Amino acid sequence: MFNFLKQVEDYAKRTFQAGRYIGQGLAVTFDHMGRRPITVQYPYEKLIPSERFRGRIHFEFDKCISCEVCVRVCPINLPVVDWEFNKEVRKKQLKHYSIDFGVCIFCGNCVEFCPTNCLSFTEEYDLSTYDRHELNYDNVALGRVPYKVTDDPMVTPLRELVYLPKDVLDPHGLPPGSDRVGRFPSEILKQAQEDDERN
Ligand code: SF4
Ligand code: SF4
Repeated sequence: MFNFLKQVEDYAKRTFQAGRYIGQGLAVTFDHMGRRPITVQYPYEKLIPSERFRGRIHFEFDKCISCEVCVRVCPINLPVVDWEFNKEVRKKQLKHYSIDFGVCIFCGNCVEFCPTNCLSFTEEYDLSTYDRHELNYDNVALGRVPYKVTDDPMVTPLRELVYLPKDVLDPHGLPPGSDRVGRFPSEILKQAQEDDERN
């Protein structure tokens, strides 16, 4: 008898939980039904990527010491570091460097572990080509100064959702100086430093 009551209780609990989850799912659906679509007219309009966006990698040839740390930490050993030993100065001399963005998974390990910080992420994301081999960037292509969406006179930059003021969903027609929901990492750091100094 006791077992039977326990089973009924469990069944009722699970039924109630299932009903709650269905209700939560439908609440999201109904919430979206009331929203209008926001269309970004790419390539005339582009969203401003977030501060830590992992776009095309930038490489500084003169800072590279050919240590190959980037190759060892890469999950697919992707960067190609072509160097030769210069006997006169008794140092490795870099000849070529390349990364194939058709294979790269943009994990950021190479950028994170490079001892001379010669690798960095840019906010460049539109890398599409007709031939995948064109995505194999040599040191010249990697060294190209990255563009910024906000500096391109041909493009209207739009804020991503995270940069919009509270309760605003459409970035069109937003005044440039308007506040955003969250603070920038630099502002958070500055606040933390000020708090440290005070304590
Ligand atoms: S880790 Fe940095 S310094 Fe070392 S080979 Fe790679 S890019 Fe060059
Ligand atoms: S971002 Fe990741 S996958 Fe791409 S080259 Fe660097 S370590 Fe390799």
